[in-house]
Amino acid sequence: MSCLLSLFSNPVYASISFTALFLAIATALAIRHKNLSDQHRIRLTYAHLAMLLLPLAFFSQHMPCKSIGGLCGVISAFSNSVILALVSIVIIGYFFLPLIYPVLYRTKRQKNGVLFAKLEDLSARLRIRSPRLFIFDGSLPLAFSISGLMPAIFISVGMQELLRGREIDAVLLHELNHISNSAPNLRLLLKIARVFSPFYAIMNTSPILLAGERKADAFVLGVQQTSLYLNSAKGKTEVES
Ligand SMILES: [Zn+2]
Repeated sequence: MSCLLSLFSNPVYASISFTALFLAIATALAIRHKNLSDQHRIRLTYAHLAMLLLPLAFFSQHMPCKSIGGLCGVISAFSNSVILALVSIVIIGYFFLPLIYPVLYRTKRQKNGVLFAKLEDLSARLRIRSPRLFIFDGSLPLAFSISGLMPAIFISVGMQELLRGREIDAVLLHELNHISNSAPNLRLLLKIARVFSPFYAIMNTSPILLAGERKADAFVLGVQQTSLYLNSAKGKTEVES
């Protein structure tokens, strides 16, 4: 404990720690602001996580203890583990999740078929880059998307079988809007914050996620000029994420 006390008695470390703590709380509160875009929330969440890491990184680099044993060694090992875990999860989530999901769902990228043609057509009409499409086996009607380096939409066979025509269009448009807003990235980062941040509760993420769903639904309504197919799709299933 003496190493911690000596560390906090260091004015440089103390001021860095308290400033980082203040900024971590400020960013957690700022994320809640209702007029922010998902991209701004993503940047704020990165900043929030960085502010949490800063005192730990500083502690690891400037540990005042003479030896690495005892409590000081435990705290140092804990700091290094948290830093490593957090950085690894963010990197894996951003760069490797697009490669991991197809393996998890035992599916391959679709490059033809009715659904693929629909997605290409909708993306072209909206003038956005068409995301990759994956159809995975499963009777439950599920659809979700990932954004980032390699955006993709995943749809279960159950969803494909249950919905018809413009109902499927509504689901694809909903997911396309999520991707264009980077909503899946935000969702992933908030999940990471839920594990690592002691200030996760004050982010109040439920309204943020709900607003993202409403935005995607409003986009479908704007494109299709009716809520008929979206409501019909929702009536048959639940459109997740
Ligand atoms: Zn959604």
